[in-house]
Amino acid sequence: MKLANCEHCTLRGKAIVPPEINTTNLLFIGEAPGEEETEQLHPFVGRAGRFFMELLTSLKLNRGDASYNNACLCRPTRTPNGRVINRQPTEFEIECCQPRLYNDVMKLNPLVIVTLGKPAFTAFFGDTKRLRDVVGIVRYWKRTPIVPTYHPSAVMRDRSGERGYKKAVLSHIKHALYLMNKGRQIKLL
Ligand code: SF4
Repeated sequence: MKLANCEHCTLRGKAIVPPEINTTNLLFIGEAPGEEETEQLHPFVGRAGRFFMELLTSLKLNRGDASYNNACLCRPTRTPNGRVINRQPTEFEIECCQPRLYNDVMKLNPLVIVTLGKPAFTAFFGDTKRLRDVVGIVRYWKRTPIVPTYHPSAVMRDRSGERGYKKAVLSHIKHALYLMNKGRQIKLL
């Protein structure tokens, strides 16, 4: 089975940051690795990842209580004024990595998935004009519930809390935990 269309992907040749697998209960899917993830070859360890772990801690969750994956496994960058910075993966890059992502998710078969940000949502359901119209609304992918929410970097940017992103993300994760527990009970029946 062909797992990723790397030969066509704009990100080909870059370091591949593999997913972190800890549990089949809960899977968070982000956009793509950033600089620190690429250096350490580990997902969710950069600034946004560390901030996200703080959010999980506030819900009494540990890093090991979930698994972590990304819509794209390689770092998308742009270079304004010669400085290399992160950017969101394009729809084409997401599409190239999609068979690999689907295969990872099918192998893990989690009880619930939370997508963080627009690219992760797009990887499953296609593009949405406005993420705010879809966050918190549970959808199903191959019978697995998916709770879309905002990316932690959006929460970080909303320092004043004016947009309510932090409150929304925490509430969406809590709902995912509810679905996870429901899924566990069904598995035990
Ligand atoms: S992002 Fe995915 S498809 Fe693109 S080069 Fe990396 S592993 Fe291959």
